Amino acid sequence: MATSNPRLTGQQLAALDAMGIAVWTRRTPELAPPVPASPEQGGPVPVPPAAAASASPAAWESLEREALACTKCALHATRTRVVFGVGHRGASWMVIGEAPGADEDRQGEPFVGRAGQLLNEMLRAAGVAREQVYIANILKCRPPDNRDPRPEESESCGGYLQRQIALVQPGLLLAVGRIAAQNLLRVDTPIGQLRGRVHRYGAAGIPLVVTYHPAYLLRSPGQKRKSWDDLCLARATVPPLPMPANAIPGKDER
Ligand code: URA
Repeated sequence: MATSNPRLTGQQLAALDAMGIAVWTRRTPELAPPVPASPEQGGPVPVPPAAAASASPAAWESLEREALACTKCALHATRTRVVFGVGHRGASWMVIGEAPGADEDRQGEPFVGRAGQLLNEMLRAAGVAREQVYIANILKCRPPDNRDPRPEESESCGGYLQRQIALVQPGLLLAVGRIAAQNLLRVDTPIGQLRGRVHRYGAAGIPLVVTYHPAYLLRSPGQKRKSWDDLCLARATVPPLPMPANAIPGKDER
């Protein structure tokens, strides 16, 4: 069970406890704060301003309209709903997963099944509410039987995600799972080698942190601690911005 830790709030400790991650208290007092590492080493980087709040609603509307009507790949024939994305459009963190599963396909919202609940817990443990981030996937439509996305599907869907990233202008991308990480970074390196450092995405060089997919963590709970480390790295790199005062908690901006 998690024990007290002066750096974590009660809510974070409760979330860690719910995830099955024990937190230990230091036996010796900390003498000095850790020396900040360089961005390449995973240290803090300057946070770009959250310009997204100024992204035009019309640009969002036309992007969403296009995505909802998309027939660029064969997945349109088997989908129930297009899963466009959800969350705070001015978020400093953007969470990117793989593709909708059965629950998401039914509800039209990313990460609403069991894996989604664990993702919410992971974020909460890091002191970030689901409503505080923007969540999207590499693919907007569910691959049959939850198979891996095919390269041509990721390719034809990629433009939507790139435009979402351009509109949100996040300070940090959190890639959850191998598929998201490899697609965003355009590598085929195993996820274990992509974790633990800060990558850069696109021309803007957006800091990108990789962590395990919550569906994998449900199957391998022993890896949850590594995911917690990843979220700590993400937080140390770009502290998530608080929700704007006029945001309605729990209200989705789809
Ligand atoms: N897994 C994902 O990668 N994305 C979802 O939206 C749901 C499950």
